[in-house]
Amino acid sequence: VTSVEVTQRHLDRIAEVDDRVHAFLHVDPEGALIQAAESDARRARGEARGPLDGVPIAVKDVMATRGLPTTCGSKILEGWVPPYDATVVERLRVAGLPILGKTNMDEFAMGSSTEHSAYGPTRNPWDLDRIPGGSGGGSAAAVASYEAPLAIGTDTGGSIRQPGAVTGTVGVKPTYGGVSRYGLVALANSLDQAGPVTRNVLDAAMLHDVIGGHDLRDSTSIKTDWPSFTEAAKQGASGDLTGVKVGVVTEMSGDGWQAGVMNRFNESVELMVKAGAEVVEVSCPSFVHALAAYYLILPAEASSNLAKFDAMRYGLRVTPDAKNGTQPSAEDVMRATRDAGFGDEVKRRIILGTYALSSGYYDAYYGQAQKIRTLISRDFDAAFQKVDVLVSPTAPTTAFKLGEKLDDPMAMYLNDLATIPANLAGVPGISVPNGLADEDSLPSGFQVLAPALADDRVYRVGAALE
Ligand code: GLN
Repeated sequence: VTSVEVTQRHLDRIAEVDDRVHAFLHVDPEGALIQAAESDARRARGEARGPLDGVPIAVKDVMATRGLPTTCGSKILEGWVPPYDATVVERLRVAGLPILGKTNMDEFAMGSSTEHSAYGPTRNPWDLDRIPGGSGGGSAAAVASYEAPLAIGTDTGGSIRQPGAVTGTVGVKPTYGGVSRYGLVALANSLDQAGPVTRNVLDAAMLHDVIGGHDLRDSTSIKTDWPSFTEAAKQGASGDLTGVKVGVVTEMSGDGWQAGVMNRFNESVELMVKAGAEVVEVSCPSFVHALAAYYLILPAEASSNLAKFDAMRYGLRVTPDAKNGTQPSAEDVMRATRDAGFGDEVKRRIILGTYALSSGYYDAYYGQAQKIRTLISRDFDAAFQKVDVLVSPTAPTTAFKLGEKLDDPMAMYLNDLATIPANLAGVPGISVPNGLADEDSLPSGFQVLAPALADDRVYRVGAALE
């Protein structure tokens, strides 16, 4: 089978189902088929560039793609076509993966349901009345609905792992600094990390091997000899967890967690014991404050990042009418553009972040949140003195109905309880599908977290659970 055939099949599938799923904001059939033909030609010459050469991929619309629109799910970037590729995208091209298109997302990656996209929601292929998670619901739905075999997501507070959990796909948030952020439109620079969205752990590992590694263009990129994640996943596939110490995090379950999700979680833990793992319970007391700290740090960084959308540099520009013969000022244009270009959730976070950073409140809010962040890192350090990996359900519930939490930001934020601590501490995590919840027969996810730099562990343990 050729890459052109595989790519064409996926383009056909997109044409067949995406008016219902709406995983894509932009599809690039011509570009993808040209790349596929180039890959086939390379293979015919015996010059394939690796195992994924010719395998098509979908990319979250937060990644700059040369010649392809990049909107971040926002009206303010409508029509922007970047003149450069993000490092992740460049590496995909170098490795020979045809890019099918750009996937839908909550505006600027703010959300847990993809309902905050300015271009309309993505739907969960398991039940079209339900959300596919967020912010990377497009990437997860594309993979779950067989529109793409692989996808790229970004995870600032769970946006790869939680969509993975609720769509029955695998999602990995690498160690902070493990994958270059160059060309990723920043939500919160200290938390953002790109990673794989796939149908099994081995695919994720192979994709991580392609996109990861040091990049001079990202000052936070880590310079180290990463092990082969593909090898780690292959080792794990034997299913043997002898000698692995596993910690079940006390604070990542309890009241408010769906019974069916907890049943699947407890079964997965039993499976680990059967596979030879030693399982203990580990308490990380400061995790209960993670959500509060995150929803101060994230808006603070986001409000500052979004200041660049000033109607002068990119995308949308709205010029108000002259008033009493006076031409609108630059400030009037900026205000009108940002008012029309940003959605409600983005505005909410800009206000929160600007408030948290204002001089009189800086110590009371941002400063306190940073202290909690340190405590969370210390809890991880202490836990990883005792165990090799920490585990939890990825999300407290299965996919909820569209509209159910849209008007209640707190209810939306609560989805991120189990995913946020990893971003605050920079540690890697994976979500692996672990069956369907009893109540609703919808997918649930199992999260495995490892110390920074030990991404190979999440692949090894993740593959053992498949
Ligand atoms: N749901 C989280 C938020 O709304 C996570 C977002 C993300 O990881 N991009 O901030």
